Amino acid sequence: MSAVDIAGGVAAIQERIGAACARCGRKIDEVRLMGVSKFHSRDAAEAAWDAGIRLFGESRVQEAAEKFEGFREEKPGTELHLIGALQRNKAKAAVSLFDCVESADRDELIAELGRLAASRNTPLGVLLELNAGEESKSGYASEDDLFRGAETLLAWPNLEPRGLMIMAPYTTDTALIRRAFRSLASVQRKLETRFPEADWSCLSMGMSGDFEIAIEEGSTLVRVGTAIFGERRTGGSLTGGSLP
Ligand SMILES: *Cc1c(COP(=O)(O)O)cnc(C)c1O
Repeated sequence: MSAVDIAGGVAAIQERIGAACARCGRKIDEVRLMGVSKFHSRDAAEAAWDAGIRLFGESRVQEAAEKFEGFREEKPGTELHLIGALQRNKAKAAVSLFDCVESADRDELIAELGRLAASRNTPLGVLLELNAGEESKSGYASEDDLFRGAETLLAWPNLEPRGLMIMAPYTTDTALIRRAFRSLASVQRKLETRFPEADWSCLSMGMSGDFEIAIEEGSTLVRVGTAIFGERRTGGSLTGGSLP
């Protein structure tokens, strides 16, 4: 079976990020690259680290806890973000594992994170997730709901607001995708006006299929899985190519 060339994938994505930045007059260091290692092995995450990835995204608490056990001690400078839906009964484990929860989309969840984060030495980073409409399920359903989430977030001293996250609708219609990214940038400007005391500078938007559009619309963090690690194995057996 042919292994995925993770180092080659990282280099290719970094080049495309650079080209996208150049096209729209942005600096390459304005955009961070996250390696989304969900459903991939620890070995794959280590290969990405060796290729220069320092920020990893995982969508499940338990999987991340197992995969990244001892990882940060071995590989200093590693940062780990939760990008998937968080159940309240997993909040405690999430607060002790992640540097940032990007998928905060309910006031009760934020309050729970706030209570639990009191036990941390450093504040827990939080991004508020906006729902992109269409068929997506996650994220605050409206701007006003999200603003209330921002108020809740600001009330907890050991939570650190960092900005916003969105998943573009699952479609090939690039106009719809662009519109979702643009709406997130617009909500960010409103947040900055309404709550100038906090830092909302992170715009986490863009995945393997749409990160270049996201960069054109102001993304500061692109979350790339498939284009680095290959297709995810979401069940079934791995047979590994054809036999001779
Ligand atoms: C899985 C996932 C990604 C990565 O998606 P790819 O298309 O594999 O790059 C990014 N963001 C979130 C929230 C995800 O769940």
